[in-house]
Amino acid sequence: MKNQKNKSNKRIGGHVSASGGFLTAIREAKRIGANTIQIFGASPVRWSALLPDSETAKKFISECKINDINPVFLHAPYLINLASPKGNMPRISEALLERHLEIANELGAFGVIFHIGSRGTRPQKESEHLVAKELSDILGRIKEGRLIIENSAGAGNLVGDSLEEVGSIMKLVNNPRLGFCLDTAHAFEAGIFADFSKKGVDNFAKMLNDKIGADNLWAIHLNDSKTPAGSNKDRHENIGKGLIGEEGFSNFLNHPIFNGVPAILEVPGYDDNGPDKKNIETVKRLSGID
Ligand SMILES: [Zn+2]
Repeated sequence: MKNQKNKSNKRIGGHVSASGGFLTAIREAKRIGANTIQIFGASPVRWSALLPDSETAKKFISECKINDINPVFLHAPYLINLASPKGNMPRISEALLERHLEIANELGAFGVIFHIGSRGTRPQKESEHLVAKELSDILGRIKEGRLIIENSAGAGNLVGDSLEEVGSIMKLVNNPRLGFCLDTAHAFEAGIFADFSKKGVDNFAKMLNDKIGADNLWAIHLNDSKTPAGSNKDRHENIGKGLIGEEGFSNFLNHPIFNGVPAILEVPGYDDNGPDKKNIETVKRLSGID
């Protein structure tokens, strides 16, 4: 219950654009009232990525400090597919993820959140071993920073749509710098977290603690879902306006396993401009923060 008394210090934010440079992400965070953010460290649709120049990186770190924005997460490019059965795809995916971990370290970010990808025709167990080896290799070469696996909505042969899959990869890697990001919409859509009643949330929390370990839950992608539980269709909705709903989020946000974990919104926003003040205020209200 350590987090209950610290409610006013709860970390709530969203994915913000850094397309005008990393410092614009801080302006965006302030505009929407976020005290934690997620950004892309480079273009999410490019295979190459430059490290930020050290001047910019220093300024970004100090501005985050001044404005009490922490933790900062990077979201890895969507191109990454560590489990792909195709040619050199796993190898270039590993290299790109490694690069983004370096960028995260330059920017003083907590870590990089990424999707494992689709295994296609590659068998499940083989995929888990391949991904574990890739992650171990990256963490072996880059000595600081964290990698954070995000659960997927489960379409196709995506790896990481169940807590068992993520948990088994984490056990194989067995590295304290590998953690988990729970996306509420993806978990709902994948059908692994279909019931957001008090009892349903509690059951899911127990399962998460059992398969992954509550201490390894480092971030939450807080998203409502436009599509039904088990649909495997990934469509995010503003908090309380989708099929998880306000009561579901209230149960979730007030559960002791989830209430102290930084919450990052990846919602469409009320102006279709992404995470906004209104969504952040909804989360605060549902968390019992004024
Ligand atoms: Zn997400």
